[in-house]
Amino acid sequence: MQTTAFVEDWLCYDTTLGEGAYGEVKLLIHKKTEEKIACKIINHRKYKNASSNINREVTIHKMLDHENIIKYYGRRQEPLKEYIFLEYAAGGELFQQIEPDTGMPSGMAQTFMKQLLFGLSYLHSKGIAHRDIKPENLLIDSDGNLKISDFGLATLFRFKGKERLLDKKCGTKPYLAPEVLLRPYRAQPADIWSCGIVFVTMLTGELPWSEPGEKNKEFMKWKTDMYLSETPWSKLGNTALSLARQILNVDDKKRLTITQIENHPWMRFNFGSDKVSDQVDGTSENLAKRWNSMVESETRHNRETPTVTLSQPTISNTRLSIMQAVDCLRNTTKNQLCFSQPTHNDDLMLQFTESPVTRDNFHNMVKRMTRFYVKTNFEKSLESLCSALDSLHYTWNAAFKGAVSVTTVDEHKNPLTFKANIYDMDGKILLDFRLSKGCGLEFKKKFLKIKKYLEDIIGDCSDL
Ligand code: AMP
Repeated sequence: MQTTAFVEDWLCYDTTLGEGAYGEVKLLIHKKTEEKIACKIINHRKYKNASSNINREVTIHKMLDHENIIKYYGRRQEPLKEYIFLEYAAGGELFQQIEPDTGMPSGMAQTFMKQLLFGLSYLHSKGIAHRDIKPENLLIDSDGNLKISDFGLATLFRFKGKERLLDKKCGTKPYLAPEVLLRPYRAQPADIWSCGIVFVTMLTGELPWSEPGEKNKEFMKWKTDMYLSETPWSKLGNTALSLARQILNVDDKKRLTITQIENHPWMRFNFGSDKVSDQVDGTSENLAKRWNSMVESETRHNRETPTVTLSQPTISNTRLSIMQAVDCLRNTTKNQLCFSQPTHNDDLMLQFTESPVTRDNFHNMVKRMTRFYVKTNFEKSLESLCSALDSLHYTWNAAFKGAVSVTTVDEHKNPLTFKANIYDMDGKILLDFRLSKGCGLEFKKKFLKIKKYLEDIIGDCSDL
């Protein structure tokens, strides 16, 4: 695609799809064709060291062309801002499909696992290691297909047939292979280990440990085979557990390869109607609903009762008053950005026009399971939300771009930041929660707590 094609006739909606290390990811929609793409906006003024990392990410990403990898379309560079254009994944992040403490139906997990391995095997065949495989970086398209995304930590481990060991300690702790902490390490087994953690998380809704080090009790139990009666392992059937054991083999030389995983009996088992493709009836709204009900029914019949865990105490509260918050949100209306048609780069101005998210363009928002309608008006909803956040001892403020930003810590005492947007959709109020930083699964747990608090005001969510 030509750079100008992204400028002319593309609208940029103010709804943020997500937040990356160097800025936000927005949705662009073509005015005439309604084609949708995602746009990563990098703010070079704010992130002074972004350039070299972004250049590396782009160099790697543009080499890739695979059905289970988010496609790279192009970039546009300006002195202070940069735009990277990507295939749009309307189904959100994989963690959205994982019910905390429960997981998802086995057939669905199997399909995602196959797609993840297919994408990863392609990546490895190109000599590239991802180094940050986790449900937050696995996106789902509108047909329910998994796409590997975010090549910010990816690197070349094989060049002209010659393989090198990697030495950089990077990734996300709970998903890291133990040898990454020790270094140097082989690229492919390390990515495969992370897939093993994703596998366990998909089936149990739990992360087995916060990091795979000697000081971690859960990891040490796993290493010494003293784990069987404990979660998450006790939630897995024998075949799934056997696969988990062989992927999460601490000895990277004995760890299964992608082909061996693909041939494991669990991967070849026919789970019947659990398959993701069977759940797709053309709309991803329905996909989310059906997945939810499938998780419930399978949990009732086949899986252990989910464990209830209490969250850790949170950081102290500094915040705006609720009325200040209401004013703030009212004054920062949901805008639609519009790229003007440029003749020169200097003319490339972002123009702001008023365009709130309405029921008409609601389908353009990324599909998430972390949202619900409420029966109350805007002010009352915000008030209830803020009281719920207070009761849960989360720090919040409503000063940022019309969203309530929430800061807390997760069960492992790691920082967790998420946003709650309140949309007035032609009189119907939608509360939409999005992870900013931290673990997706922990974010979902917090979301469920807030939802429980707001139980009394939750309205009809059948069209979500
Ligand atoms: P990243 O900068 O790649 O870490 O992206 C940050 C977040 O933005 C992701 O976790 C997604 O929620 C969202 N996002 C990134 N790329 C896309 C995409 N191609 N389609 C939809 N959402 C995206």
